[in-house]
Amino acid sequence: MNGGVIETKDALVSPMEPIHLGIFEGIKAYVEGDVLGDGDLNIFGWEQHIERLWRSAAADGLAMPYSREELLEAIRACIIRNDYVKNTYIQPRIWPRAEKNSESHVVVPTWPFDTLLGKENPLFAEERRFMVSSWRRLSSDALPPQAKSWANYQNSMHAIREAKRCGYDNAVFLDKRGFVSEGTLACLMVVRDGKVITPPVTASILESVTRGCFIEFIPDLGIPVEVKDFTRVELYASDEAFLCGTGGECTPITSIDDIKFGKGYPGPITEQIAEYYAEILAGNVKKYKHWLTPV
Ligand code: PMP
Repeated sequence: MNGGVIETKDALVSPMEPIHLGIFEGIKAYVEGDVLGDGDLNIFGWEQHIERLWRSAAADGLAMPYSREELLEAIRACIIRNDYVKNTYIQPRIWPRAEKNSESHVVVPTWPFDTLLGKENPLFAEERRFMVSSWRRLSSDALPPQAKSWANYQNSMHAIREAKRCGYDNAVFLDKRGFVSEGTLACLMVVRDGKVITPPVTASILESVTRGCFIEFIPDLGIPVEVKDFTRVELYASDEAFLCGTGGECTPITSIDDIKFGKGYPGPITEQIAEYYAEILAGNVKKYKHWLTPV
């Protein structure tokens, strides 16, 4: 926090701090060799995440008091001091200080997380019933959806609360135009006739690091990817649907509005993509080693 590695209990700020005006990043470090094992960690998508953090800061007019390299070194120091040998989540948080004209606060909490990827991981195939939210995804004439700011997550919280009230696990947003946008905390991909389809950035989505990587690596499996707008009924009529994101990794969706997807659950293409992604994250695919930054 602000230049030092400190215990969470000592990472205190005044209640007058405008933390709610802040931005953040969600980054993951995975164990080398096997995402379900213990061992050395590699940060996935460091370059992409750090660039988005800087873009979020620019969009929200926040000063970044450290360089990209200093932030990386701080994260490494934090992981090493914690002796982490399991997959670790890293969440840099930046917000303007209460005193005017001073630098931003920078805090980087880190904690271990359970992946749903990896061979025969029972978490992967858990049932996930989604609904189409009656809330629309925020649009860029109100707030920039491309910035990862805390304010945008109020939009997601409304959709999540509505889904829980209605007995669902989570929700999918439509955008202001009525086209499918994304999940509440991750991007959405569907499978139709052997092809993966995902909405464009202009559908008010967060410019997801994971989505960008998926679009690049899925064709390696002989599966074409198309970025295009689609409607709610086309979503219902999909063979498979899954979320992609740093937190969500590759999360299969069982049903939307109680309509099950055509090709069983989890869908075979979703499974194939998740298995390949786990290998990429573990550093077992040479072609994508450049997405991994050793701790
Ligand atoms: N959309 C939203 C609303 C999100 O919160 C996230 C998670 N950061 C994503 C998409 C996925 O983005 P990424 O792949 O960069 O984690």
